[in-house]
Amino acid sequence: MEIPGQIARRVANLVLPDTCVMDGALARAADGATFDNISPRDGRVLNKVPACGVADVDRAVAAARAAFEDGRWRRQSPKDKKKTLFRLAELMERDLDDLALMESLDTGKPISDATNVDIPLAIQSVRWYAEALDKIYGEVGPSNDSKFSYAVHEPLGVIGAITPWNFPLHMAMWKVAPALAMGNSVVLKPAEQSPLTSMRVAQLAIEAGLPAGVFNVVTGFGRPVGEALARHMDVDMITFTGSGAVGRQLMIYAGESNLKRVSLELGGKSPQIVFADCPDLDAAAEAAAWGVFFNQGEVCTAASRLLVQDSIKDDFLRRVTEVARTIKVGDPLDPSTRYGAMISERQMNTALRHIDQSKSEGLNLVLGGERVMAETGGFYVEPTIFDGVHSRSTIAREEIFGPVLGVMTFKDAAEAVQIANDTVYGLASGLWTADLDRAMSMTRRLRAGLVWVNGWDSCDITMPFGGFKQSGFGRDRSLHALHKYADLKSVTFTLREAR
Ligand code: NAP
Repeated sequence: MEIPGQIARRVANLVLPDTCVMDGALARAADGATFDNISPRDGRVLNKVPACGVADVDRAVAAARAAFEDGRWRRQSPKDKKKTLFRLAELMERDLDDLALMESLDTGKPISDATNVDIPLAIQSVRWYAEALDKIYGEVGPSNDSKFSYAVHEPLGVIGAITPWNFPLHMAMWKVAPALAMGNSVVLKPAEQSPLTSMRVAQLAIEAGLPAGVFNVVTGFGRPVGEALARHMDVDMITFTGSGAVGRQLMIYAGESNLKRVSLELGGKSPQIVFADCPDLDAAAEAAAWGVFFNQGEVCTAASRLLVQDSIKDDFLRRVTEVARTIKVGDPLDPSTRYGAMISERQMNTALRHIDQSKSEGLNLVLGGERVMAETGGFYVEPTIFDGVHSRSTIAREEIFGPVLGVMTFKDAAEAVQIANDTVYGLASGLWTADLDRAMSMTRRLRAGLVWVNGWDSCDITMPFGGFKQSGFGRDRSLHALHKYADLKSVTFTLREAR
């Protein structure tokens, strides 16, 4: 596929990283193995990336452990740590355009999203946790005059971070930034489909002056790299964003190894509920469409179940469909594109399989449903809407992680809550209503870690992010994420009278 004129020169000049970072130096897999890194934009090989193995994980973990034990990072003053992380954020900002281009090539997401959303939010995480790191205080316990007790936060040690491909750098920095800010060492394994920006940012961390061994990136596949990290006896915690299936494996690996902590941000089947008294039906329709089709539907909080009060269903579905029709599938590298390629042929086929399944279950296809732009070699699926979905429909139960919206109806608040909670997941939920009492009571009854009223995806880094039920546990974002990467130590002095 021809590269759009205004981007062609940037692509030609872009140097793609092809090394891991271990112990403060660029590194390749010990056995020299590599794998083909494919761009979903056109299905072509972008570059070759190290296919690391167990020996490489051992090396990275040893470097991280050495850095942690001698305190070259954790013992630095908060002021100095902050300076280094701010420097890293500045370097990411300097290279924002290159990072965005890599992210778009690697994932198929629109270059406009990579430039305006993914990379700025990754930079924001680094800055936010740098700013926060000297605002974490311990506590002094109540005691009599013969005792003095206090509790302090101490870093956990070596953190293994395993991250997904949908927002590669953004998700990685939700974990790496607070873990580093707390004084830990990190070994990051980015998803094999989209490793480039993590590899580059690890290089920038060296340039920023982060001591050797504190931030390592090991590329390769879930098995063996992710598994070796999660089974490693010298890793203190695994922090993960990805599928429930892998999340379950990680808990087993932790149990079978050193009982390391596990924090899991998993999938969702998030409901967006629209009542007839919705204060702004056009805004709700916009949110219903973009809530599921943003990032080609590859969003863990995708509003993939639309619950509409039966009295307004036809009108509201018409509005949502009108918005969705304006979402044109396009070349991710065209700056005007707002909807690009899916991450891989496999993920595209998962979406298409669910579409076929929904048709065979007799659901009413309202929009889309096809692979498009196949001649490019890329993996593109149209925004797709099914009406007549019910709680037993496969697309109401299984996470697709693709651009497929299922529309359901309800008669009153009680039924809306019942349908919304009728899922093994509990990540996000939203409701649109002008009735304050109803909104307040529903926010309490919805079993989800995120609830948005009269908006979708409307909070930011200041608020915790994570799920209930099988959407996982542990929180990214906010000060809670800093605490996740720390242990609490209680210290008590027994005091004698001053002589
Ligand atoms: P995935 O298959 O679970 O992969 C996530 C990461 O785990 C990748 O780096 C993967 O490596 C690695 N991995 C795979 N098998 C492993 C194993 N046995 N041991 C250790 N690591 C292993 O998920 P995905 O396909 O990348 O992402 C999609 C899923 O993530 C969806 O279910 C989505 O809902 C969820 N997600 C959740 C959130 C959230 O915040 N809650 C955000 C984004 C995505 P390789 O792929 O390189 O083999």
